[in-house]
Amino acid sequence: MANTQTKLKEVKLFINGEYVESSSQTLFEVKNPATQEIIAKVHEASFEDVDRACEAARQAFEEGPWRTMPLSERCAKIRRMAEIIIERKEELARLEALDVGKPYQVALEREIPRAAENLKFFADFMEHQGGEVYPMDDAYLNYTRYEPVGVAALITPWNLPFMLTTWKLGPCLASGNTAVIKPAEITPLTVSLLGEIAQQAGIPDGVVNVVHGFGVQSAGEFMTTHPEVDLISFTGETTTGKAIMKNGADSLKKVSFELGGKAANIIFEDANLDKAIPVSIQAAFMNSGQVCLAGSRILVQRTILDEFLTRFKEAAAALVVGDPQDAKTNMGPVVSQAHYNKVTSYLSIAEYENSTLIYGGKRPELPVHLSTGYYLQPTIYLQENAQARICQEEIFGPIVTIIPFDTEVEALAIANGTEYGLNAVVWTENLQRAHRISHDVRAGTIWVNCWFVRDLRAPFGGFKKSGVGREGGHHSLEFFTEAKNICIALK
Ligand code: NDP
Repeated sequence: MANTQTKLKEVKLFINGEYVESSSQTLFEVKNPATQEIIAKVHEASFEDVDRACEAARQAFEEGPWRTMPLSERCAKIRRMAEIIIERKEELARLEALDVGKPYQVALEREIPRAAENLKFFADFMEHQGGEVYPMDDAYLNYTRYEPVGVAALITPWNLPFMLTTWKLGPCLASGNTAVIKPAEITPLTVSLLGEIAQQAGIPDGVVNVVHGFGVQSAGEFMTTHPEVDLISFTGETTTGKAIMKNGADSLKKVSFELGGKAANIIFEDANLDKAIPVSIQAAFMNSGQVCLAGSRILVQRTILDEFLTRFKEAAAALVVGDPQDAKTNMGPVVSQAHYNKVTSYLSIAEYENSTLIYGGKRPELPVHLSTGYYLQPTIYLQENAQARICQEEIFGPIVTIIPFDTEVEALAIANGTEYGLNAVVWTENLQRAHRISHDVRAGTIWVNCWFVRDLRAPFGGFKKSGVGREGGHHSLEFFTEAKNICIALK
């Protein structure tokens, strides 16, 4: 078991290579969601602070040396950041578990190493990029260059704070841009260290700045309307994406959005249930269901419904819900009181909609020190009406809905019958059906007989209201660069 003793932290802004206090001296509190203990006081960036961070990033971009240094040197510094993250992985995992309520082991073994990989991958990938050449009748030669855009605003949510921020920071820095980062105000602890880690890796001051604060009429909005910001990479809710797009429109900022999801996890009667059930449990309840890619709508062919319900319920009941710092814990609390209220409001919505409760729906029994934590049992409903609110709205908590279907056509209609299109999962041993469904589901990622497997070269993003643009591999580099064509007269 990791150390659960917490010293109250004071989290400052990181601007132009140094930790600074909020100019307004306004601080907000951050709580441990497992206990409601106050774990940090965070300096809230005023408009002046955000302005200073954006100006520092602008100056670091224009005056260099970041943008102009040899690519191999820039990428070596980014790889050094990745090494420092691994050297500090216990500390980072402990902070992430405290802040988000996710199991320490998951943060330690998966999310923090993946954060390091995000940086290393894009440094390596950038170094291996070529360009295009278009010769014209031996008279002219065109060649392309991919140049940095400028100052990037990187705005991230609270569910995977460190992993998602580095997923943006890697390609942003590898392309030669500078950054102003804003984590979600309820989970700022790990991301607050990124400026310091960049500095330790030898990245020049002003290249990585971190500000803290809220969204509307606060740091988030100040960044997305700031004239020095050229591009915005945002992950969060669909409604926030709409607001940011409007705010960035006046200054025509480039945007990339990774937004909400309500993935269909489709289990056909020929599925290998020995694999489908444990992976579907992960897809439903990992990080307490607070994952954009969660398989939160489980579509089950009616011929295997009884068997699936029995086995899925047993597997959910076997999950250990408890202290995030305990190595045995599979599922912690949800992230905050406000989010707990939102998630648990769906219990009465489900009841009102005549959903059948298969498992959960209550606070689990827990040791006394967790009695004030934001806990809910893994919860399973059965619902025949795919238009019910629990089948349509992103709950973003440990509540999953099972929707029965009879035919492949029906499964496809249900899978496509939401405003989201981030991802889907298909379980079948029939190769042709696997391809058919994968082609016809309107979503950015389809996993067949697996879930959450990521090749960082592959495109990642959403159809419909799940996003704008793609990240991953050259898709990220296209967003973080401007393509330039140079045409040379040869005669
Ligand atoms: P939010 O959209 O509420 O917040 C995300 C970030 O945006 C936070 O830093 C937030 O600040 C900030 N923000 C809020 N309003 C504004 C604004 N008007 N201008 C600028 N910034 C603003 O999302 P959540 O934090 O609640 O995260 C959960 C959501 O993220 C879910 O919908 C989930 O599906 C989605 N998500 C999508 C992923 C994907 O890859 N598609 C991956 C992970 C999550 P603050 O919190 O301080 O208000």
